[in-house]
Amino acid sequence: MQIEILENRDCPASPVALESAGMVTILDRNGVGSESFQPFQGWTGPLNIALEGNLLAVGAGYSGGPRVSVYDINNLSAPIANFYAYATNFTGGVSVGFGNFLSDGKPDLITGPGPTGGPNIKYWNGSNGYSLGNSFYLGSPENTTGITIAVDGSALANSINDLQSKPGAAHTLYLAFGPDAPTSSIQPIWQNVANLFAPWNVNVTTIQPNDPSLSYAQVNIGGSTPANSPNSEELGQANIGGAFEGYGFAIVPAQVYAGTIGWSNITEISHAVAHEAGHLYGLEHDNSDANSIMYPYIEPYLGSWDPTSIALLNTNLGIA
Ligand SMILES: [Zn+2]
Repeated sequence: MQIEILENRDCPASPVALESAGMVTILDRNGVGSESFQPFQGWTGPLNIALEGNLLAVGAGYSGGPRVSVYDINNLSAPIANFYAYATNFTGGVSVGFGNFLSDGKPDLITGPGPTGGPNIKYWNGSNGYSLGNSFYLGSPENTTGITIAVDGSALANSINDLQSKPGAAHTLYLAFGPDAPTSSIQPIWQNVANLFAPWNVNVTTIQPNDPSLSYAQVNIGGSTPANSPNSEELGQANIGGAFEGYGFAIVPAQVYAGTIGWSNITEISHAVAHEAGHLYGLEHDNSDANSIMYPYIEPYLGSWDPTSIALLNTNLGIA
């Protein structure tokens, strides 16, 4: 469920649009559902919606196609505009938002691709039937974590899942969320892991470092434990010291099977991510302390680093 509330206005209160299971419901100023409709026939998944005045924009959410429709909420029987914002075979969904970029009083539309798409922002001209006005990449085209558009008035506030705890730090821990990651899970998992690594000189980030020659630690987060796993209870794996050449292992990403853990289990996934990242930074298991992040089993709380782990992280990462 997603609520898009109009900018603050004088009375009377503005209508609100809600989405659920492929349906959009417009609530009137009294909060009453005045009309519901299904913008994309056959699509019952999540929708991205934006409301500006009497204009409603709709894009499919993740796993949907790149179609975008714009409606006048006073006439939902047919869209004002209806187009594919990205390649027709793209299935990451489209985030939408309104802004008045031409200052002509006619709301324009901004779109961004969902997860698996690059950060290709497009602007659609409201004065010209929402024809394509401009197109650019917000950051590295390789970044496929997905874009969330939030537009307030005429300013584009890019609330994107580009998270960094310490830009410019000597070490980088890249959390690579898989396409199955719900957008709502990314920020809290990143936050937990960033908090756990806050004492050290490491930037915990969801932005893929764009220089492949620079070494960095990477934890892939997503998917399920493979059927051929030697341990059917395996929830993650990493090479010990995998972030450093000197440990004699290839630098390969660690893995956390967040789909098996369950995407709603933020604490457990955060533990697993910090644990596997700890391995990459040279840490071994602490089998004696269930409070330790390096305890080899997930507890229903986040835990903390044990003294041995702290000492080694101080050495390998440097104190921030
Ligand atoms: Zn382990």
